[in-house]
Amino acid sequence: MRNLILFGPPGAGKGTQSAFLVDHYNLVHLSTGDIFRANIKGETELGQLAKSYMDQGQLVPDDVTIKMLESEVNKHPDAAGFIFDGFPRTTAQAGALDAFLEGQGQTIASMLALEVPEAELKTRLLARAATSGRADDADPAVIQKRIDVYNAETAPVADHYRAAGKYQGIDGVGSIEDITGRLTTAIGA
Ligand code: ADP
Repeated sequence: MRNLILFGPPGAGKGTQSAFLVDHYNLVHLSTGDIFRANIKGETELGQLAKSYMDQGQLVPDDVTIKMLESEVNKHPDAAGFIFDGFPRTTAQAGALDAFLEGQGQTIASMLALEVPEAELKTRLLARAATSGRADDADPAVIQKRIDVYNAETAPVADHYRAAGKYQGIDGVGSIEDITGRLTTAIGA
């Protein structure tokens, strides 16, 4: 199995690049943000809970998020591998993911980290608000909160995989195709 983490701050392009990588490498894409948004749309109990955090730019609590992610992985017993997008977002989530995969004789092959300057992230997210319909993209205060939460809680997750020799930084500025090229070069055949 080839399990990849596509990592980076809000607006780094994780979702955009995942769409190509899942096809190219025949992987299952698991975006915790997408799954939460599907739950909000479906008006589930989980969706209601997630919305109260997402609208504020805060993280959904670890216990709920980890349980949800594990149950999504378990829905794909025949997967050739996964792209984790937006997960793990805390060191607790990273520890839980490692332990969960290890229990299945699996591991993370690589963390691909899209690196984009903060000013560019803000510009991209505000532009995306016009088409995404996402409340968390439309409000500059919520965007700032998401970036602050990323720096405080999510950035340390990179150190976890760096220590394991699995971190690969990728320049996330340029055309979509250029960045896809950098990712495929980093991942390999
Ligand atoms: P972005 O990367 O642009 O912030 P996402 O769709 O990945 O967009 O996430 C949107 C929101 O969903 C986050 O701000 C957070 O509230 C929630 N969320 C997504 N993934 C996680 C996670 N792994 N842990 C906690 N909350 C999450």
